[in-house]
Amino acid sequence: MSQNVAADQIRTGRVIANYGAALTVESDDKVLHRCIARRKLGLVVCGDYVEWAPQARGDAVVTKVMPRTTSLERLDRRSQLKPLAANFDQIIITGAVQPPIDLFLVDRYLIFAEHIGAEVVVVVNKIDLLSSANKKLIEDITKTYQKIGYRSITTCTKSTDGMNELLPFLQDKTSIFVGQSGAGKSSLIQKLVPDREIRTGELSAASGLGSHTTTTTILYHIPSGGELIDSPGVREFHISQLKEIEITNGFIEFKALAGQCKFNNCSHRNEPNCAVKEQLEAGEINSVRYKNYLKMLSE
Ligand code: GDP
Ligand code: ZN
Repeated sequence: MSQNVAADQIRTGRVIANYGAALTVESDDKVLHRCIARRKLGLVVCGDYVEWAPQARGDAVVTKVMPRTTSLERLDRRSQLKPLAANFDQIIITGAVQPPIDLFLVDRYLIFAEHIGAEVVVVVNKIDLLSSANKKLIEDITKTYQKIGYRSITTCTKSTDGMNELLPFLQDKTSIFVGQSGAGKSSLIQKLVPDREIRTGELSAASGLGSHTTTTTILYHIPSGGELIDSPGVREFHISQLKEIEITNGFIEFKALAGQCKFNNCSHRNEPNCAVKEQLEAGEINSVRYKNYLKMLSE
């Protein structure tokens, strides 16, 4: 693939689906183009901003991938890190009333989001299953995250509850949904992008690989505004390893206090005059968050 491409042929666009080497690029005028990437570019993935050029014959060619602002990477079968999706600005961390939201998992996703510089919304779905037994618990969870500075809402996919709050958060951004299996991510996405199945079919047809190609990561346009990158791999994305520095920087309410600890490299474990522990004892820092912090450090 060594065709020379004249500079005036170069166009820009965004990869909205990738099927191995075959890419679907959406040009700035929203037209879909079947492309292949130059080999030296490595893996080009959904969400990538690219330069591409039509060819006199055959598929258009992606000639350049713009630097990624964010990316999700997973280990493949040969333990090589492989990108899965790129250039998302926001992570919607989804848990539910039932199965009970796993706050350790939520905190791990939060640390990851802080580390890569993505915005976050913590969603607690299936609010219709709230009972007198768990009402206070769920309220406390959303309040805890809000107090730290995160947006946190409750939703229900069987009604419109919470949807009006969620939609504005998705505007003008590219988001991904992650979180526990069974929390309702697919159901939420189905509500946000009702023509998802049709779109998926159209895209695999446009890829030239037929409409029964294996599931891939796809970028959807949300009718009310915003972009959504989704695939089973993205939804069930697991964070492999977090470094200690990422953990200490990732608990933003601890980080805000760090200057007030006696030692400037305080780990907030056993050091004397630790502002974090003082705030914990005063009830200002949430004890579950603190426990999750210790657990993450010890992993
Ligand atoms: P995912 O694994 O996170 O993608 O979760 P799914 O969207 O597949 O949902 C798991 C199950 O929860 C399905 O049986 C859904 O019908 C159900 N579910 C999703 N949202 C809600 C909700 O708001 N309320 C209730 N009661 N059930 C829901
Ligand atoms: Zn400290």
